[in-house]
Amino acid sequence: YDGLRLHQNENTGGCSPRVIEALAALRPEQIALYPPYKPVVDACAAHFALPPERIALTNGRDEGTFPTSLAYLRPLATGPAEAIVPQPAFEIFAFNASVAGGRLVEVAPRPDFEFALDEVLAAMTPSTRAVFLTNPNNPTGVSMPMKAIQTIAARVPKGAVVFVDEAYADFAGATFIRSLPDFPNVIVGRTFAKAHGLAGLRIGALIGSPETLAPIRQAIGVYSVNAAAVVALQAALADETFVLDYLRQARESKALVYAMCDRLGLKYWKSDANFVLVRTGGDPRAITDATAARGIYLRDRGNDPGCEGWIRITAGVVQ
Ligand SMILES: *Cc1c(COP(=O)(O)O)cnc(C)c1O
Repeated sequence: YDGLRLHQNENTGGCSPRVIEALAALRPEQIALYPPYKPVVDACAAHFALPPERIALTNGRDEGTFPTSLAYLRPLATGPAEAIVPQPAFEIFAFNASVAGGRLVEVAPRPDFEFALDEVLAAMTPSTRAVFLTNPNNPTGVSMPMKAIQTIAARVPKGAVVFVDEAYADFAGATFIRSLPDFPNVIVGRTFAKAHGLAGLRIGALIGSPETLAPIRQAIGVYSVNAAAVVALQAALADETFVLDYLRQARESKALVYAMCDRLGLKYWKSDANFVLVRTGGDPRAITDATAARGIYLRDRGNDPGCEGWIRITAGVVQ
């Protein structure tokens, strides 16, 4: 872990000290026995102000899209089920959809990364079974209007789900969770990897109506969330001060990145997450290689649609 890791949007300030205390206090039987989930699901439900039956814990947010794909993207009698993914997007959706047998339908970005709602609606067919959205989006940091998610949810065919990856919702301060009762075909994916600093322990959550989650729960590995992650999440959720302090630092850190870009005359996108997409004006690979040689890791996003020449920089902590 040498160097400055600004390429994976992790919490560069680590996790709450309470998490370390909770892990150190694990007793032998907590390691030897299968983990009990009720207390942590209840804590998570309280955190999101939801009833526990609307939550399915997963081994990281990433694990969540795979069972979702297995439940909703298996081939239909008429041909492959289709998954719509507006670009640029987190690459995991494409892998998960294809492993489940689904057909990926990519929607090209608008030049300014404004959400391509009309294009997403136009990409729908009777075979659409999932739409994967990320809000705020990665790698752009740009949010989509909540109204657009509602419009998509109202228009997808019966039997389809709209998956809203809210990995960065803590930074944005906005969530679709409160609208879920009106849109039972929407699933919100959350992670505790980013704002809560638990990436190494792997824990996330799927949130949605019990009926929509039911086939997904069957595809999630039994005991897929381990005992250490269980106690860590409870401790992390109990330390709101740590998260709020990190969110403040990420905001200040983003302002420093914006200021640097302004100084250097680099174009960038205002981000609602803990990273900034910056146009290098050169070969992004050469730049990320050069900074890596100096121990600073940045992410080359130049191969993403609409992102030619761009790099993504995680906004770390400010001391
Ligand atoms: C980082 C990230 C995740 C990963 O969450 P995990 O809980 O670590 O699996 C999911 N979605 C997006 C868009 C991310 O950027």
